[in-house]
Amino acid sequence: MTDRCDALVIGAGHNGLACACYLAAAGLRVVMVERREVVGGAAVTEEFHPGFRNSTASYTVSLLNPKVIRDLRLGEHGLTVVERPFANFLPLDDGGHIKVGGGLEATQREVGRFSRRDAERLPEYYARLDVVADVLRGLLLETPPNIGGGIHDLFRAWKAGRNLNALPLQAKRDVLDLFTISAAQWLDRWFESAPIKACFGFDAVVGNFASPCAAGSAYVLLHHVFGEVNGKKGSWGHAIGGMGAITQAMRREAEARGVAIRTGQGVARVLAREGRAHGVVLDNGDEIAARCVVSNAHPRALLRLLSDVPGAWREPFEHYQSESATLRMNVALAELPEFSALPGRAAAPHHSSGIIMAPSLAFMDRAFTSARERGWSQEPIVEMLIPSTVDDSLAPAGAHVASLFCQHFRYALPDGRTWDEEREQAADAVIEQVTRFAPNFKGSVLGRRVLTPLDLEREFGLVGGDIFHGKLTLNQLFSARPVLGHGDYRMPLKGLYLCGSGAHPGGGVTGVPGHNCAREVVRDFKKLRKS
Ligand SMILES: Cc1cc2nc3c(=O)[nH]c(=O)nc-3n(C[C@H](O)[C@H](O)[C@H](O)COP(=O)(O)OP(=O)(O)OC[C@H]3O[C@@H](n4cnc5c(N)ncnc54)[C@H](O)[C@@H]3O)c2cc1C
Repeated sequence: MTDRCDALVIGAGHNGLACACYLAAAGLRVVMVERREVVGGAAVTEEFHPGFRNSTASYTVSLLNPKVIRDLRLGEHGLTVVERPFANFLPLDDGGHIKVGGGLEATQREVGRFSRRDAERLPEYYARLDVVADVLRGLLLETPPNIGGGIHDLFRAWKAGRNLNALPLQAKRDVLDLFTISAAQWLDRWFESAPIKACFGFDAVVGNFASPCAAGSAYVLLHHVFGEVNGKKGSWGHAIGGMGAITQAMRREAEARGVAIRTGQGVARVLAREGRAHGVVLDNGDEIAARCVVSNAHPRALLRLLSDVPGAWREPFEHYQSESATLRMNVALAELPEFSALPGRAAAPHHSSGIIMAPSLAFMDRAFTSARERGWSQEPIVEMLIPSTVDDSLAPAGAHVASLFCQHFRYALPDGRTWDEEREQAADAVIEQVTRFAPNFKGSVLGRRVLTPLDLEREFGLVGGDIFHGKLTLNQLFSARPVLGHGDYRMPLKGLYLCGSGAHPGGGVTGVPGHNCAREVVRDFKKLRKS
């Protein structure tokens, strides 16, 4: 053994960092081991073309929990989040466009250009969705009741049930529907015009390999609305300095609390004896002894670190579903895109919003079907953000960087094809898709970095390329995340915990799994001290 600590955290993603901060605050001696050279996991900012930096994977903020921001003093460590001027801009097939967000009245004016009825229904839509989002918000910081657990878990189940039970019947019906039906069914009930349905329906396919017509897709839509920016519910924003600014602020807080962070070192194996985790072996063979081990890695990656621990517990982890069918690309741009639907190359508010190239739910359904048949969508769904319009630290003066988030690109391609052969072809299809709406786009690209699902797995350990550490389906949520029987952050070995997005409440840059997991670790430490 070369080292000893109270808690060894595997991985320094934002949840690992958050967890480590809370553990250190409770007086534990914490060591973190991160395989990459930089902390942050999927929330990092890196140079991808000489002189051009951008968020590498995760690219926009909303879900980061206000308690985590406060407790970890992220603002004091320099984190600034700038709200988008409005949420989304959608160029449409017929040369028109729709802008959503920036206040109810502005959105109603926009939607009213397509349907007066839809514009009138908007206030009730937002209000009803917000009631259900509030239910989720209320559960975020709770540890889910563990199936087969003891008295604590019965109390947690009662508490969660009590909150749901307090809702009016209409809201209970909405909860049931939003957890089970398709986004298309949900939106069809509310609206008649295609552009507004596309705008809201896009959230249902972000990181979700599914058609918006698939049962369960309405939940993914809901998952994207429980956040807030600077106190404004449901808003999305740009972290100045990219998403790495969040995790660098967390790193500073962790170090201030005495956490030892080792980068460029991978964990090869969790050491187990008599059903208890007691340390790890690193890739270089060094061992670190620990009173407990907390994993920020994907649940199936953790399974691999436990290859010498047999048992029936392995099967549900092996079946844990993990594929979001996402391709992520950063581009360095000589100039801003000029949209046919809203001409002009000078920076305008729509350039700082989420630009969605997916004009209808039918388009999204076709993108899914073509990926299912051929491996990836020839006409993909693309969201583009251009953070350099609000942040001059990312690109040289006059130039820009854009984040392209694209669906659907399967992890495993059919007919023996490989991502190493098709990466550039798929990236070209994405560029073509943006160029359909902004003809100067292709010619303005100075450089690009493409991350296929395979690259996301290789680079960040995201098994199957899943951006959320596993699908957000009903069978993998709340008490069932990652698997039923381990919904309370405690893994199958005593002293082994999961603090990453594979635990409740799932993916997104929230800091919540890390926050909640730390509470359970500290609870167990207190019990140990008493016994
Ligand atoms: C392309 C993409 C786009 C996204 N966009 C957004 C977005 O805009 N907004 C949003 O809120 N969310 C977004 N997400 C989701 C969000 O980024 C993730 O859910 C979140 O960052 C995961 O954080 P985490 O701390 O749980 O895990 P991770 O960030 O995955 O961190 C896990 C860490 O563990 C390390 N690790 C794994 N195994 C080992 C080992 N054996 N030894 C040592 N270290 C190990 C990894 O290197 C990694 O650093 C996106 C994700 C991706 C991939």
